[in-house]
Amino acid sequence: MYRTHNCGELRLGHAGEQVTLAGWTAAKRDFGQLTFIDLRDRYGITQLVFDMDTQPELCEQARKIGREWVLQIDGVVRERSNKNPDRPTGDIEIDVRSLRVLNASKVPPFTIEEDTDGGDEIRMKYRYLDIRRAPVKEKIIFRSKVAIETRKHLADEGFIEIETPYLIKSTPEGARDFVVPSRMNAGEFYALPQSPQTFKQILMVAGMDKYFQIVKCFRDEDLRADRQPEFTQIDCEMAFVEQEDILNTFERLTKHLYKSVLGIELPDFPRISYDEAMQKYGSDKPDLRFDMAFTELDSLVKGKGFPVFDNVELVVGINTRGQASQFSNKDIKKLTSWLQRPQIGAKGLVHVKWNEDGTIKSSVGKFYTDEQLKTWLEAMDARPGDMLLILAGEKDATRKQLSELRLEMAGRMELIDPTVIKPLWVVDFPLLEWDEESQRFHAMHHPFTSPTKADMDKMNSTDRAVLSSIKADAYDLVINGAEIGGGSIRIHDRELQMKNFHLLGFTPEEAESQFGFLMGAFEYGAPPHGGIAFGLDRLCAIMQGEKSIRDYIAFPKNNQGRDVMIDAPSSIDEEQLKELHLQLDLPEQ
Ligand code: ASP
Repeated sequence: MYRTHNCGELRLGHAGEQVTLAGWTAAKRDFGQLTFIDLRDRYGITQLVFDMDTQPELCEQARKIGREWVLQIDGVVRERSNKNPDRPTGDIEIDVRSLRVLNASKVPPFTIEEDTDGGDEIRMKYRYLDIRRAPVKEKIIFRSKVAIETRKHLADEGFIEIETPYLIKSTPEGARDFVVPSRMNAGEFYALPQSPQTFKQILMVAGMDKYFQIVKCFRDEDLRADRQPEFTQIDCEMAFVEQEDILNTFERLTKHLYKSVLGIELPDFPRISYDEAMQKYGSDKPDLRFDMAFTELDSLVKGKGFPVFDNVELVVGINTRGQASQFSNKDIKKLTSWLQRPQIGAKGLVHVKWNEDGTIKSSVGKFYTDEQLKTWLEAMDARPGDMLLILAGEKDATRKQLSELRLEMAGRMELIDPTVIKPLWVVDFPLLEWDEESQRFHAMHHPFTSPTKADMDKMNSTDRAVLSSIKADAYDLVINGAEIGGGSIRIHDRELQMKNFHLLGFTPEEAESQFGFLMGAFEYGAPPHGGIAFGLDRLCAIMQGEKSIRDYIAFPKNNQGRDVMIDAPSSIDEEQLKELHLQLDLPEQ
């Protein structure tokens, strides 16, 4: 037997017991007379003691042990004189009687502790050492709990878990596909699924009502901050349901996960429409842990002789409470430059300060009287000491910019309480989104999403404005400003699906060749159906108040999409290329 106990479980109650432990050498302290070793495993750290007086040979042996050596020891549990209240095993230590080195270790390239001196790249290269560190290990264990509770809960609700294939053909969900060449079918390629979307819909046609899967999805996107080319979804589909059924089912799942994993009872989730979210927060994933909602000022500011405001689509602002005295002119200039960076792209920033002494100061004071400025302050529920920050321009862009400013200000004003959890459903998304560049509509969610019953007739329109106003039966779950997942009621009728493809710029032939299998299935008794998918990696990060999903993934890719541990992607040899009927035409290095 390698061990009688693990390194995290011994307590004062075990004093006097003979035990065998196995683990890694987390630290060694050699004081000549006494040598201490902290023995670590997945469960914790236990202190071992070697005493020169009583066990000189053993003590000599212990002094030679290096960091991360794998040991097995026998010894007796005893109360520690110098207790460590920060460690669950801190009341005891092991008086070691025998020691076996199970394996030696090279000196690790970074410290394996809570805080490490290792940079990202080196941690990823030696990920097996990184995972020995408590913060990474705990995130991976946390993820496992969330996954297991998800399975339990969905199984209890009558869902069945079905695997769908990874070697498929393209499903367009807005990203590029990863492709896999087929050896047996020269010149042909599989694609890795961006999601199991079409398969889960076909499972509904197949009668496998209430499907779920915890599934890898692959998207070959440029890796913006905190995205991974492969990530995991909690993917679901149900038949004979309406939006309401799906929202309720997944609200119950989310509540169950918070309760069972974190012990937190969540109240019912509010719902807001996409339009309201955009109007009040400039974002379809608003962070509701703080308020600072937008106020549109057009009716108050236009037609008063300030040409900048007169000639724009939207003038909109936020009230930053108590900030009048916090921002000097220089600070405001800095904030303006921050907003003008290309990443945000605002033209300028207008501010109105209502000073504590009652005076009003504004960057547009030349154009407006104090009386007029007061109407703005009133509209934004300001008090003396507050400062309004106002942006103007094209509607969508300005809202987006103000959304960035709202988040930035909340950060600076320390309005975000990390212990607060604010979930919400965003509903009534537009079905179609006009893309100026390609001069065509894109599906806001994906092409299988159904318009709402009320807007069904608009699908026959040829008027771009009418088409843009079609609402989808689609929804997103947002928690603390992060999109946890989304889904929709689907089209389950060939004709309507064809119409949607047509609006999205597919020719009938393209639609048929890419999705004939799905539309064909619709002709054999497709039930009304809908579903949703949550991002498991992101959900875990948000549940723990973490910004990055990286450490919830055991072996993540870096920002270039590389796995630096195994060094992938990598080239393959001539022989393999030939077999796959591939010829490389690489640019000269
Ligand atoms: N397949 C969708 C996605 O990956 C989710 C859904 O509509 O169920 O976002």
